[in-house]
Amino acid sequence: MQYLSTRGGISPIPFTQAVMMGLAVDGGLLLPRTIPRIGSDTFNSWKNLTYQELAFEVMSRFIDDIPDSDLRDLINRSYAGFGVKEITPLVHHGNLHILELFHGPTLAFKDIALQFLGNLFEYLLEKKDGVMNILGATSGDTGSAAIYGVRGKNRINIFILHPYKRVSPIQEKQMTTVTDANVFNIAIKGTFDDGQAIVKSIFNDIEFKTAQNLGAINSINWARVLAQVVYYIYSGLHIMKDEKDRSFDFAIPTGNFGDIFAGYIAKQILPEGMIRNLVLATNANDILARFINNGDYSLGEVVVTSSPSMDIQAASNFERYLFYLLDKEPERTKEAMVEFTRTGRLDLKGYQDQIRRDFVAKSVSEEEVLQTIADFYAEHDYILDPHTAVGVNAALACLQQNVPMICLATAHPAKFGSAVEKAIGRQPQVPESLVGIMEKTSRCELMDADSKQIKAYIKAHAISK
Ligand SMILES: *Cc1c(COP(=O)(O)O)cnc(C)c1O
Repeated sequence: MQYLSTRGGISPIPFTQAVMMGLAVDGGLLLPRTIPRIGSDTFNSWKNLTYQELAFEVMSRFIDDIPDSDLRDLINRSYAGFGVKEITPLVHHGNLHILELFHGPTLAFKDIALQFLGNLFEYLLEKKDGVMNILGATSGDTGSAAIYGVRGKNRINIFILHPYKRVSPIQEKQMTTVTDANVFNIAIKGTFDDGQAIVKSIFNDIEFKTAQNLGAINSINWARVLAQVVYYIYSGLHIMKDEKDRSFDFAIPTGNFGDIFAGYIAKQILPEGMIRNLVLATNANDILARFINNGDYSLGEVVVTSSPSMDIQAASNFERYLFYLLDKEPERTKEAMVEFTRTGRLDLKGYQDQIRRDFVAKSVSEEEVLQTIADFYAEHDYILDPHTAVGVNAALACLQQNVPMICLATAHPAKFGSAVEKAIGRQPQVPESLVGIMEKTSRCELMDADSKQIKAYIKAHAISK
């Protein structure tokens, strides 16, 4: 499989180069040249596969430059640390099926992709005898999942910036109690936006970036999308075990359009019509819901909500879908993205028919989130985290009789205990991996929000050949 840029500025490259490139060098995002669709025979033959076996079947269709046995080994190692043998179990509540994606080491769905990406980076660096210093800024969840993805790995150091005292105490501890020698937590005196701006400015210093072998781990890496495609198909196989179901829907709480884009790919891999609706659920940051419902993709102010991992306006994976919407024409994609960068808005009203064939959407308010957590608890004795509750609320609004709805549960409720307590009057039970975490020793550097100082720190602690 060859990979191309949405902006058309690179010649086709194989999977492993696409992984190492991350963002395409022409500023676009990388996509496979084609999406292989499977027939119902193949689908049926997958029904008894384990998660890991299925991951191999799906991923190997997009990867032809890693030997099969190595790919199997990478997959097996990536999911060995998950708390349940199904990796992503389905919990049934009538016609609503909760797909629990939070059984990885940091209790959020990002582990599923980042455990794999960490192993993949290590493997590829070994092959080319290279090293990488990963640099990223986090508002909470991504940082810990990225740190757990590469802790203790050879040839990789990781530097994660978080805003000092502006992430939840548990999130802070999840990051800073990882004391492996290759992990560097930096708390900056500033906001998440300051952290992001610093990271951006450091990546823009090409000389520094090259000299320090800087790498990114953000959600635009194709390998992350690919790893996420697997659980859509896995849960579909389980729903379809019951032969009477012909198709099913998904509800996806969305921030950067990464997870739902994986669903869009899964829809094209599976036999036509099998995935019926992809329900895109946003919190009060509703740019994507406005895009789908009105063709209006225009930036608003970021609003702080109880689902912080979705407090996003410009969605970094949006360009991938835009490329398909614009008939896979790189020139038009580039033009549209340049206009969006300049004006902060895109008018896509002319494409509404197509957009509505691909997605339905709902923006969910804070009151609705709390009410959904409370109602679901009262009715099913099951506690939703606020991100998952955004998805479940939208799912209920779009639910149709006799069509199973699979809701992606993206975080364990214990990670967002105070929001849950507000809704149901008590804290969720704390899973074993979080017990005692507040008392553990942590390691973290407190620094000014100053890219010069941070560069000096990276230079002093970077891994080099
Ligand atoms: C990152 C995240 C999301 C949003 O995922 P996207 O791929 O950005 O759409 C939802 N819920 C949780 C808990 C997350 O960490």
